[in-house]
Amino acid sequence: MIPMLDLRREYEWMKADIDAAIEECLKHQRWINGAEVTTLERVVADYIGVKHCVGVASGTDALVLALEAWGLDGENIATTPFTFVATADAILRVGGIPVFVDIEPDTFNMKLDEIPVDVQGVIPVHLYGCPCDMDKLACLGMAVIEDCAQSFGALYNGKKTGSLGDAAAFSFFPSKNLGCFGDGGIVATNNADVAEQVRILARHGGKDKYDCERLGYNSRLDTMQAAILLAKMKYIDTLNWMRMQRAGWYRELLAGIDWLTLPAPNEGHVYHQFTVRVKNGKRDELAKYLKANGVDTMVYYPVPLHKMKLFRDRCYIHGSLENAERAAAEVLSLPIEPLMSRQEVEQVAEAVRKFTWQ
Ligand SMILES: *Cc1c(COP(=O)(O)O)cnc(C)c1O
Repeated sequence: MIPMLDLRREYEWMKADIDAAIEECLKHQRWINGAEVTTLERVVADYIGVKHCVGVASGTDALVLALEAWGLDGENIATTPFTFVATADAILRVGGIPVFVDIEPDTFNMKLDEIPVDVQGVIPVHLYGCPCDMDKLACLGMAVIEDCAQSFGALYNGKKTGSLGDAAAFSFFPSKNLGCFGDGGIVATNNADVAEQVRILARHGGKDKYDCERLGYNSRLDTMQAAILLAKMKYIDTLNWMRMQRAGWYRELLAGIDWLTLPAPNEGHVYHQFTVRVKNGKRDELAKYLKANGVDTMVYYPVPLHKMKLFRDRCYIHGSLENAERAAAEVLSLPIEPLMSRQEVEQVAEAVRKFTWQ
């Protein structure tokens, strides 16, 4: 069976570095706010090309805290209905209302030129690791919080995602391109005040937690997770490059199938997922066929957010969301681990091709 993801392989590949990092934590025992957290915040800020990063407990918290720190709580925020639930969850969590805007059929990213003018902010999601066309936001003049949970290392016009808006949320959930061994996240921003507010909010709402200024959270990135992430940072460009290489193999091996649409080529894409579109209503049939033939796949995401019970009465819908609805019915993500062998990619492609003759 070729799994969607086998994290054991990645761990074995950099075991020495990770074990040493954990060993160091066991020695110093500073589990909360240890030196590794501060170092990671600096290393990630420099990598992304922003002035400040603040480690938090998850990608979801990173979104919540970024929205609140920017004063976007209680506001109408435009976002995509074709994303993981956390993107729009975060808006509700801070008392706001998501305003769903349709997606581009080729990139699956939100149509950034169709954002209504009466929203106070926008959360573009660089879905599957494919950067949004951020230039389209340039003259809108509203707050932009990037959801970079799937796009660590992705580039747009030579700049990293996460440096393109007012603040950005990253997730270190284990399956993400840069993942830790549990939950974790980081907020990135060039704005010193926003960074400071995130830090305060994440620490019970006070610079001094025994004398608080506002209602906050307890949301920290653990020292040990930071240590693991620092060890993995050494390899992130190599791992992302390996994902791109495997995407290239898929393109070569899956070319010319008329019922299959491959992801739109994009130089800055880091292929958190390699997601194809299956036409003629055959997506679920293909997934079943692949499973029976030793290939795991996943549907990210089968239900657009505006169709979920959670959002049904708690969102605005801007125009038609037909592209998002069609995508939810047609997408299928194939396994794309950085350490998949050429032979495994060939095996997946061969199984897809055989389906043609069913
Ligand atoms: C994973 C993910 C999140 C949430 O991150 P967590 O660390 O799981 O809280 C948010 N948005 C998107 C697009 C994601 O893929």
